[in-house]
Amino acid sequence: MTPSINADRLWQSIMDVARIGPTPEGGSCRLALSAEDAEARALLLHWCGPLGLRFEQDAVGNMFLRREGTDATSQAVAFGSHLDTVPTGGRFDGVFGVLAGLEAIRTLEDAGLRTRAPLELVNWTNEEGSRFRPAMMGSRVHAADMLLEDALAITDDKGTSVHEALDASGQAGPLVPSPRGWACWLEAHIEQGPLMEADGTDIGVVTRTMHARYFQLTVTGEPSHVGSTTMDRRHDSLAATAEIILAIERIGRPAEPVGRASASWIENFPNARGNVANITRLHCDVRHEQAERAVAMEQELRAALGEIGGRRGVAIDVDPYATFGPIAFDPAIGNLLRQTAEARQLATRNMIAAAGHDSVLIAPLCPSAMLFVPSVGGISHNPREYSTKEQLAHGAQVLLDAVLELAG
Ligand SMILES: [Zn+2]
Repeated sequence: MTPSINADRLWQSIMDVARIGPTPEGGSCRLALSAEDAEARALLLHWCGPLGLRFEQDAVGNMFLRREGTDATSQAVAFGSHLDTVPTGGRFDGVFGVLAGLEAIRTLEDAGLRTRAPLELVNWTNEEGSRFRPAMMGSRVHAADMLLEDALAITDDKGTSVHEALDASGQAGPLVPSPRGWACWLEAHIEQGPLMEADGTDIGVVTRTMHARYFQLTVTGEPSHVGSTTMDRRHDSLAATAEIILAIERIGRPAEPVGRASASWIENFPNARGNVANITRLHCDVRHEQAERAVAMEQELRAALGEIGGRRGVAIDVDPYATFGPIAFDPAIGNLLRQTAEARQLATRNMIAAAGHDSVLIAPLCPSAMLFVPSVGGISHNPREYSTKEQLAHGAQVLLDAVLELAG
């Protein structure tokens, strides 16, 4: 049997990170490359100090912490997740995957065990995409899904670029982002949904992901006076967007439980009392287990935009700026996760990831897999996001067991 992880230490570390960027409701707000994100990264580095890990960082801020193995010629077994959060973040999304990896390494250190293959613990930059779009930016650049220069030029809602935020937070490393020749990749994550809790599963073996398609819409009408402009003469971009939001919801509902559609961000100009709005931007996405169904949902959306725009006399520009998946994870590593969980008397089930994860970008580079632990009430991106100490410990233990199997 492999050594046991320290459930209390794992829990305490998660709570320590949660205190960085605390929100009044008990969650965390650590937007990518903010001062809070930098503070969480510094704490991770502080913890890694006594473990003798070699730290490397690339130009988009991705962090790699390497523990050498006994065989210098072996490819590394890599694992991790992200420390950034959404504005209404909980304490576990992403953080669990990074700190489960840290706990695995701490346990090996305590046990005096050195693996044959090197290990690499990773913290990806801007997984959430809340501040800078698109989501999974660090892993996209790492995997050459996105050019570094394009990522650096992206700005947040205040006009700060990724480049500026990397400099300001001290996270611009010297490495050129590129694949690191890993033997394999593992990510532990909270489920963020209700399925595992409902059927009493301890460990979800993620076999594949949905396919998601992200859009930014720009609706352009005409500015006018809310008092003197008669209703029939208006080209109101905000009212048109209201119809679009409801159309997106209508497209999403029948796709359940294997598909979804959402509008999640809006920006309105001039956003002035007394003005009929003339420019409204909306962020939305459609996703489905079957890629062709997600494409069909996009077609439905485009048809709705054509109808709404024509009827209201507004122009609607569609920027389909990113997609993810569908990805099938490595079945052999999935089997290994299942077997290691069952050897610990843990209940498993297969899962399909509906949310985006960095693993989607890494899967084409090397054999990759994800494991989920349950989310109490299925709640996520919410301060009430919660998994128990025991649930988290199970996930970290299976991660360690699988890493030991893979790294020898
Ligand atoms: Zn996450």
